[in-house]
Amino acid sequence: MPDSHATSAEVAEVLLPLALASAYSYGVPRGLRLSPGDYVEVPLGPRSYIGVVWEVRPAVPTNLRMRDVTRRFDAPPMPETHRKFISWLADYYLEPIGNVLRMVLRVPAALEAPREQVAYRSGGTPPRRMTPQRQRVLEILRDGFPLPAGELAQAAGVGTSVIKAMAKDGALQPVALPALRPFSAPDPDAEAFSLSPDQQVAADALKAAVRESRHSVTLLDGVTGSGKTEVYFEAMAETLRQGKQVLLLLPEIALTAPFLARVERRFGVEPAGWHSDLRPRERERTWRGVADGSARIVVGARSALFLPWANPGLIVVDEEHEGAYKQDEGVTYHARDMAVLYGALARFPVVLSSATPSLESLVNVDRGRYASVKLRDRHGRPELPEIRLIDMRVAPAPSGSWLSEPLLAEVRTALDAGEQALLFLNRRGYAPLTLCRACGHHLDCPNCAASMVEHRFRRLMQCHHCGHQEPVPAACPKCGTEGKLVPVGPGVERLAEEAARHFPEARLAILSSDITRGVLLRDVLRDVADGVHNLVIGTQLVAKGHHFPHLTCVGVVDADLALESSDPRAGERTWALLAQVAGRAGRGERPGRAFVQTHAPDHALMRALASGNRDAYYEQEKIIRQNAALPPYGRLAALIVSDTDGPSAERFARSLARNIPPTDDVQVLGPAAAPISVVRGRHRWRLLVKAGREVDLQAFLRLWLKDAKVKGSLGLQIDVDPYNFL
Ligand code: ADP
Ligand code: ZN
Repeated sequence: MPDSHATSAEVAEVLLPLALASAYSYGVPRGLRLSPGDYVEVPLGPRSYIGVVWEVRPAVPTNLRMRDVTRRFDAPPMPETHRKFISWLADYYLEPIGNVLRMVLRVPAALEAPREQVAYRSGGTPPRRMTPQRQRVLEILRDGFPLPAGELAQAAGVGTSVIKAMAKDGALQPVALPALRPFSAPDPDAEAFSLSPDQQVAADALKAAVRESRHSVTLLDGVTGSGKTEVYFEAMAETLRQGKQVLLLLPEIALTAPFLARVERRFGVEPAGWHSDLRPRERERTWRGVADGSARIVVGARSALFLPWANPGLIVVDEEHEGAYKQDEGVTYHARDMAVLYGALARFPVVLSSATPSLESLVNVDRGRYASVKLRDRHGRPELPEIRLIDMRVAPAPSGSWLSEPLLAEVRTALDAGEQALLFLNRRGYAPLTLCRACGHHLDCPNCAASMVEHRFRRLMQCHHCGHQEPVPAACPKCGTEGKLVPVGPGVERLAEEAARHFPEARLAILSSDITRGVLLRDVLRDVADGVHNLVIGTQLVAKGHHFPHLTCVGVVDADLALESSDPRAGERTWALLAQVAGRAGRGERPGRAFVQTHAPDHALMRALASGNRDAYYEQEKIIRQNAALPPYGRLAALIVSDTDGPSAERFARSLARNIPPTDDVQVLGPAAAPISVVRGRHRWRLLVKAGREVDLQAFLRLWLKDAKVKGSLGLQIDVDPYNFL
């Protein structure tokens, strides 16, 4: 027998958080007991990595020189269902499984023993030498909240050496942060409303699903304000009574302080949070709490699915129709679909809630795969606001302006009555396009095939695809003529200017994610709710779940905007957005009205909106999708080829198209240059794969792409169930 280096009795297959399709083998040192799910440290090349034991088996004599596991972390092992979830997701989205694991291992600190942490607060004495950097550090600490050196440095945009120097100087004072706060047990009955009969029926259905402790999916379908939140709270309470954990998923944008406060009131404890703004220590606290089971309620954005759930009993997906649940960069996945999958693997119920459900979910109800629970009435109010169309062909706005006379009259009426009005336009900035009137030149992004968008408030031009910014030029960069650059089309800032001209006395607020964010957003939202502002100009930031009791008049400035698109879900999305925006009106004492400016009042969607006939619209949409064999009646996958070199991207896309495995079941469209043909300097080509529902699309893609050589600067992204067609 050749000499063997395998000295261990056991071999552990360890999955690493790297772009690898399978686990690597490591020896288990004698004296170390490992089981699947254990978090371990292993060497790879010159580095060491945290990985997860996927399998343990007896060692066999082998020639391979196998390195040993270095150590096992003293953390609760990753449950089997979670490991299955990771494998399944990787298979479905054709993602190297290691990349999926990386989503779970985002908080390495949570695997170490909890430790005290040194943080810094202002020392009271100014530094001996004040610099702009030091100034910024003190600025950050002004709210009195001590921060660890790393976070402080990052927040102030300085190096940690600056922090150390200031600490030495006495300008910063070290304080020991307490170990992580433990989670308190929630009270399922802390503060429940007495439900209306309709709500009670719905809540009972969801509670029954929870009590059955098996997998089921229920679509909770009811207009905005009908009490869906109160109803799914009942399902959450029931899960808590069973001693299990609950995940409430929300689109990131809806994860607001008032909503978290509402959850806290209902269950008597602050829920664990999970979103992109979380401080590292809070992240660590949530991760640990989810892993050891002490975090019983987590309210989180889509990536909360990847937390290592110890004892999951329910996932609620609020606003289940939201496109934001689909992540299409990095590891692609749809959080709603993966929540359903998780429930199937770990045998617990999933609740999907929406006022404007996705066609996917409605069709799953039709097919009998999902149960449906409906809330017909708006709590304490009979119906959605009345929606009226304003035909812009009949009542056009003067050139260079966007508000028609009928809409202006309605806003005036509301303001005169002491009520609040909202003008909705889903476009950030001042104008989407800037042109030179002398030479016709467009101001385009240097990195993307897209126009630069003027943001007048922030005095810059910005590309909405790559974030590139430039000062607003005084002269045309092409012909050099001054004073001839003109904005084309409206953004919210320009609309605000127009509104201010018409209503100079109005107390106006702009709600747009680029100008109103963080603390400012919180304050503006509160002021809008309190009626401090009576005229609100907003992007989709206003559409999500806010409760503005004084708001009675909503004007949708350009309802046609979202319809002009090749995206099969454009209609559905427009419907959801417009219904949500309109639903902001009349949530208080007085009834609301909504006005929709459109050039296509005869479009089926507009007609359904005006008649309030949602079901008619959905039925129509189903027929369109069915005839075109589009989701949910067929399956799609997109391949996006990109390269810094345009011809190379095109060549590769064409070579893919030449090598399609013979098939009768699958249709491949393209390649075609992507609608946004260059992003961040990368030229993009798309292929669209279309198949019937019964086709194993993944198997086809694997076969097709197994020999594809993605080399050098080429990129190939596989997007199963695409939501983005740009
Ligand atoms: P949805 O989630 O369907 O938009 P919510 O659950 O947010 O509706 O309810 C809308 C408003 O009505 C909230 O302020 C909520 O607190 C209130 N509400 C709902 N149901 C009841 C009830 N049974 N008793 C008292 N208030 C309720
Ligand atoms: Zn750009």
